[in-house]
Amino acid sequence: MKVALVGNQNSGKTTLFNLLTGTNQKVGNWPGVTIERKEGKIKNTDQVIVDLPGIYSLSPYTSEEEVSRRYVVSEKPDLIINIVDATSIERSLYLTTQLLELDCDVIIALNMCDALEKKGIGIDEEKFSKLMNTSVVKISALKGTGVEELVDLIQNGNYKKNIHQKIYSNDIECVIDSVIHDEAHKRFVSVKALENDPNYSVLKNKDVKEAIEKLEEKYGYEIEQVITNQRYDFIVSVKEECVVQKEMGESITDKLDKVFLNKWAAIPIFILIMAMIYVLAVGVVGSATVDFIDGNVSLFKDWMAGVLENWKASDWAISLVCDGIIAGVGAVLNFVPQLIILFILISILETTGYMSRIAFVLDKVFRKFGLSGKSLIPFIVGAGCSVPGIMAARTVEDEAEKRITIMCTPFIPCSAKLPIIIMFASCFFGKDNTGLITVSLYFLAIVVILLSALIIKKFFIKTNNTSFISELPEYKLPSLKYVARDVWEKIWSFIKRAGTVILLCSIVIWFLLTFSWDFWNGMVEDVDDSILASIGNALAWIFYPMLGEWSWEATVSAIQGLVAKEQVVSSMNIIAGLAEESEAYGDLFASSAFSFFNNASAYAYSVFCLFSAPCFGAIGAMKRELGSTKRMWQAVLFQTGLAWALAVLIFGIGSLFLL
Ligand code: GDP
Ligand code: MG
Repeated sequence: MKVALVGNQNSGKTTLFNLLTGTNQKVGNWPGVTIERKEGKIKNTDQVIVDLPGIYSLSPYTSEEEVSRRYVVSEKPDLIINIVDATSIERSLYLTTQLLELDCDVIIALNMCDALEKKGIGIDEEKFSKLMNTSVVKISALKGTGVEELVDLIQNGNYKKNIHQKIYSNDIECVIDSVIHDEAHKRFVSVKALENDPNYSVLKNKDVKEAIEKLEEKYGYEIEQVITNQRYDFIVSVKEECVVQKEMGESITDKLDKVFLNKWAAIPIFILIMAMIYVLAVGVVGSATVDFIDGNVSLFKDWMAGVLENWKASDWAISLVCDGIIAGVGAVLNFVPQLIILFILISILETTGYMSRIAFVLDKVFRKFGLSGKSLIPFIVGAGCSVPGIMAARTVEDEAEKRITIMCTPFIPCSAKLPIIIMFASCFFGKDNTGLITVSLYFLAIVVILLSALIIKKFFIKTNNTSFISELPEYKLPSLKYVARDVWEKIWSFIKRAGTVILLCSIVIWFLLTFSWDFWNGMVEDVDDSILASIGNALAWIFYPMLGEWSWEATVSAIQGLVAKEQVVSSMNIIAGLAEESEAYGDLFASSAFSFFNNASAYAYSVFCLFSAPCFGAIGAMKRELGSTKRMWQAVLFQTGLAWALAVLIFGIGSLFLL
C-alpha cells in the first residue's frame, strides 16, 4: 500500500515521515527544505510512505505544487495522510477540501497538538471528524504522541472512506455533477473544470458553459471565485463548530516580531547579525585556529617526509606526498573550524524562524530588482553550497524570478570560496580585519546580485513579480538535532571533497608542476618549465588587467576553481611550495610565485574567484534547473564577464589609492 503525506509547508510532514520510517530527512522551520519527494517504509510494516513538498492547494503554480499534485492525482496513492497544523486549521483546510475531492481516502493528522494548550486552542476532534466526513487523528510529530494510533489506523484500514461530501451550494453541486467525463477523480476534475484550471478546460460542454454563465450572473463573481468563497465558507463553519480559541495575551512571537520586523530596524538588525556571525566565525575563531592547524600540518608534513626517507622512497614520491597531497589537502582542511562555527550560527538562525522573517522583510526590496523575498532562501542555502542553493530556487513561483534567482545564487560566496577570502584577507589586510573584509565581500555579493538581477530583468528576462511571502512560522528555540545534522552534513561534504576532489586535483597539479612536456627527462628543476606553467602562460593575459603582473601561477589557480573553489587555495599552496621552499601557509605570499600580490590585486583576484563561473557541480545544477544548455552558458558567461570587469575595476581603483 502506498501512503502519501500531504500538507502545507512547515506542517510537520518531514518530522512525521522521519518518525514513521526511522530515517533522517532534513526538517526545518522554514520553507523550501523538502523540494523533492522522498519514499520510505513505515517501520515494521509493508506500507510505503511518501514525503511530498509542502503545498497550499492542488493548483500547479509552483514546481513543488506540481510535484505534489502530479503525485496525488496521477500516481494515485492508496491513502493520503493530510497533515494539518492544528494551530492554524483555517489556513490548512483549503488544501484538505481539495484532497477530499480526489478518488482517494484521506486521514487528517491534526499535528502540533502539543502546542494547542499553550495557545489556548481547543479542538473537538469527534465533531471535526464528523463535519469533514473523514477520519481524524490528533498527533504530535515532534513528541511522538498519537503516532501509534495513526499507524494502527493505516494498518487495519478502519478509517472512514471518502464519500465525496458535498460542500458547495446546490446549484453549484448540480453543475459539478453535470460535467460528464470518464476520467479518474471525477469530482476533482469536474471542480477543476469549473475553476477554469487550464489542465481541465476541455471537459466543459455547451450546457455546462451556459450553466456557469448563469451562476456567475447570480453570484456576481467569476465561477472560480465563487467556488473559492464557498470552500472558505465551509471551512469557517467547520472551524466555528469545533474550535475554541481562548483570548491570549500577546505571544512571544508577536513581541519579537515587533523588533525583528520593525519597519526601520529590521534590515539594520539583519546586517548587524550577519556581520557579527562572520566576524565571530571567520575573524575570532579563524585567527585562533588557523595557525594552530597550520603548525600541525607542517609538523605532519616534516614527519611524513622523514618516514618516507627512512623507507628509502624516491625523491618524486616524497615530493608527491608532501608537496602535493599534504600541501593541497591540508590547505583546505585549515578552514574546517571556521566553517563549523559559521554553519552552526546560520543553522540556528534557520531553525529559530528568523531567516523566514528576513525573507519577508527583504521581499519589498528584492521585488524592485526583479527578485522575490523567496530568492533569499536559495541565497542563504547557497552560503553553504551553491548546488542545493540553486535547487532551493524551486520555491520561487514566478518562472522569470526563478531563473534570475538561479543565475544569481552562485554569487553568494559558498563555503568552498571562504578559504580564498580568508587567505587573502588575513595576509593582506591583517588578521584582525579578516572578519570585516569577509563581511565586505558578502555585502559586495549582495550588491552584485541586486545589480545583476536588475540588468537581467532589464535586458534578458521579463518578470511578473507574482511570488510573495505571506507565511511566517513561529519563533522556536533552536533545535539541537536540526543544527547538529545540518552542520554535520555540510562539514562532512566539505571534508569529503578534500579527501576526493581536492586530493585528486592536488596529485594532478603536482604532476603538471613537476614535469615538463618531455617528462621522460625527469622532474623539472624550475617550475617555470613545467607543463602547468606553459598552460598558464597561454592564458595569463586574461588575468593581467586585474593583477598588474603576468602570472601563470595565479592564472592556473583561478581556473582550477572550476573544479572546486577551494582548489584555488590548494593550488596556490602547492605552487608556492614547489617554487620555493616556503613552508607554512602564511608564507605563501613570500614565495617568488605570488610575492607580486598587493592589497589591490589581492582583493581584485578574490573578487574574480568569488563571482566568476562557479564550480562544475554548480554549473551542472544551473543547467538542470534552468532547463537548457544555452541558458546555462548564458549564465556562466554573464557571471564570468561580470566578475572580470569588476575585478579589473577594483584593481584599477585600488592601484590609484596605493600609489
Ligand atoms: P514540513 O515542511 O511539513 O516537512 O515540516 P517539518 O517536518 O520540516 O517541520 C517544520 C517545523 O515544525 C520544524 O521546526 C518541526 O520541528 C516543527 N514540528 C513538526 N511537528 C511538530 C509538532 O508536533 N509539534 C511542534 N511543536 N512542532 C512541530
Ligand atoms: Mg519537509
